[in-house]
Amino acid sequence: NSSGNTAANLTTCCYCGVGCGIVTSKDKLGRLHVEGDKNHPVNKGMLCSKGMNLHYTVNDRSDRLLYPEMRYNRNQPRQRVTWDTALERTAKVFATLIEKYGPDSVAFYASGQCLTEEYYVINKLIKGFIGSNNIDTNSRLCMSSAVVGYKMSLGEDSVPVSYDDLELADVIFVAGANPAWCHPILWRRVEAAREKNPDLKIIVSDPRKTQTCSIANVHLQLNPGTDITLHHAIGRVLIENGDIDLDFIANHAEGFEKYRDTVFERTIAEAAIICGVDEKDIRLAASYIGKAKGFISMWTMGLNQSVIGVNKNLSLINLNLITGHIGKPGSGPLSLTGQPNAMGGREVGGLSNLLPAHRDLLNPEHRAAVENFWGVAPGTIAAKPGLTATEMFEALNDGRLKAIWILCTNPLISLPDVRMAEEGLKKAKFVVVQDISNRPETIRYADVLLPAASWTEKEGTMTNAERRISYLNKIIDAPGEALPDAEIICRFAKKMGFKGFDYNSFSEIFAEHVALTAGTNIDMSGLSYEVLKEKRSVQWPYTSSSESYGTKRLFTDRKFHTPSQRAIIHSFNDENQSEKLSPDFPLVLTTGRIRDQWHTMSKTGKVNKLNKHISESFLEIHPDDAAERSIKENDLVEIFNGRGNVRVKAKFTTDIKKGVVFLPMHWGKVLNSDLNRANNLTNNLVDPKSKEPDFKFSAVEVKLH
Ligand code: SF4
Repeated sequence: NSSGNTAANLTTCCYCGVGCGIVTSKDKLGRLHVEGDKNHPVNKGMLCSKGMNLHYTVNDRSDRLLYPEMRYNRNQPRQRVTWDTALERTAKVFATLIEKYGPDSVAFYASGQCLTEEYYVINKLIKGFIGSNNIDTNSRLCMSSAVVGYKMSLGEDSVPVSYDDLELADVIFVAGANPAWCHPILWRRVEAAREKNPDLKIIVSDPRKTQTCSIANVHLQLNPGTDITLHHAIGRVLIENGDIDLDFIANHAEGFEKYRDTVFERTIAEAAIICGVDEKDIRLAASYIGKAKGFISMWTMGLNQSVIGVNKNLSLINLNLITGHIGKPGSGPLSLTGQPNAMGGREVGGLSNLLPAHRDLLNPEHRAAVENFWGVAPGTIAAKPGLTATEMFEALNDGRLKAIWILCTNPLISLPDVRMAEEGLKKAKFVVVQDISNRPETIRYADVLLPAASWTEKEGTMTNAERRISYLNKIIDAPGEALPDAEIICRFAKKMGFKGFDYNSFSEIFAEHVALTAGTNIDMSGLSYEVLKEKRSVQWPYTSSSESYGTKRLFTDRKFHTPSQRAIIHSFNDENQSEKLSPDFPLVLTTGRIRDQWHTMSKTGKVNKLNKHISESFLEIHPDDAAERSIKENDLVEIFNGRGNVRVKAKFTTDIKKGVVFLPMHWGKVLNSDLNRANNLTNNLVDPKSKEPDFKFSAVEVKLH
């Protein structure tokens, strides 16, 4: 590192999946300071508002959990106890429940913010030793539709491109995302690329005219739920204009004929009416893609968080496939991950239907390989997928699930139909909450509360959205008795009497994880903490024979990881399966982020500077929809449906499509009222293949309060 920084003061931002490099320093009082790492390949010194204020979240320890606490009865306050007492009691309760009701009576609900080593040991514990697959994470709410989309089309959950490809593309299609606010540093790079190359064309599809649209050549302001119709229409224009790659289709893909028949079922004029956009704009977007030498499709929650999320993903990836824009510079699909380590979690199999190294739980050979590696008896890993995020809380409600261990996430703000989820926690026989802060709503239901070490207080690794694995150093000591999450899980496993959790260091856990990837499509067996400390970050695959910084681009040989080695162009109809609007609930509610807050605000909500951007929740509504309801700007309004209600001030904007309203997802209970919580209103419909919830489409009505 030419700046003289060493691994000792370098780390990676713990918010979004962009994965910006950070240089830390300490002042005389030992307080941490942060700045962007000028030598980091992702951010080149830049940080967004959230990243540049990270030190406030570390230095302010007023909300930190310091000691384990426990209670025997929900009506009593918890008492401080030792780690041994807390973990022995938890192990005893888990063992009793497992003996009485079976291994599927317990579950772990974790987070895309966990470090890879943490994910690895939780997954190993429950799948390989407890014998249940009941581990899921908040990545289910975020990226699971992209995971299935990649697997179905490319044969592997793999982002084929690097961020550097954005600077080589001449067309970027941003579908259902607002990276200017949600992935700001990546978007700064796109803005810089546009300044350098004014011919770079940017297409945005979104029911809201967001900050990202400010540099768009065309904004397709589509009706919610019509993305597949739009992508099919663009596909049809590309075919009609002869702007497809016949060689790629003939030699490296399958399914094109059926796809062509499917997209020709609708005229462009019909599609334009369904989507609520101009036909000429669809043709303009298609003409940009058709002329491109390099074409990147980029998306996030607008496609993923949908009851038809997998098909939305596939319909967009299809545009890369029919034009042959994959596996070459400046081209390919790029899913933007919302969380810093959603990718790392997938790499270790940290979802209820996965096994390590992207192995498939339903495949008996894959289960046998992992059992053999972990040294457990054949048949230990259950063949049936475990409960997903929303299913866990449903199962708490109906009594199938007795105990849940929640770590590093705040489901009582982030889950859909959250009042139902809260009922589930009330009914649970035993709740363990492991967190850094006393702010999450889940804590009031904790029978055992475990204090965790935070960012910079522990070491480990994370993988960003371009397959880049970074080492995060321990820079300061954790407060009180807080421990790294991986250590807590290993101590608990030992209290349960399980062998195989006697690690001497986190690097040993990492070494075990990468050894398990050897020979797979995500082989990272050439990695160790030493390599990562020296190189700062590398992109997988990374074997012992890999070149110095790993693999920039996948599928450059046009061989995909499907059985036929061809990419698969999938066909399906474009019907939206979201809940239906009705005369009682005629408006579509969509939810999302604001620029300066992160998830459920347990970190960013502590930072005054960030709270100044937008200090309270609000409803974004078109003035025509407001006028029909006699609502004036800043009026307190109630948004409601059969599941719940929210009360916030109305904010008028013509940037939102008429018939659509928007609530930010960040706020939970304020002054003990839950009426700021957007997820009081969202529904628990999920995509049948990815089990990702339909956060972007709930039927609501709005009235003056
Ligand atoms: Fe952190 Fe994402 Fe901002 Fe980079 S863009 S500083 S990773 S929040």
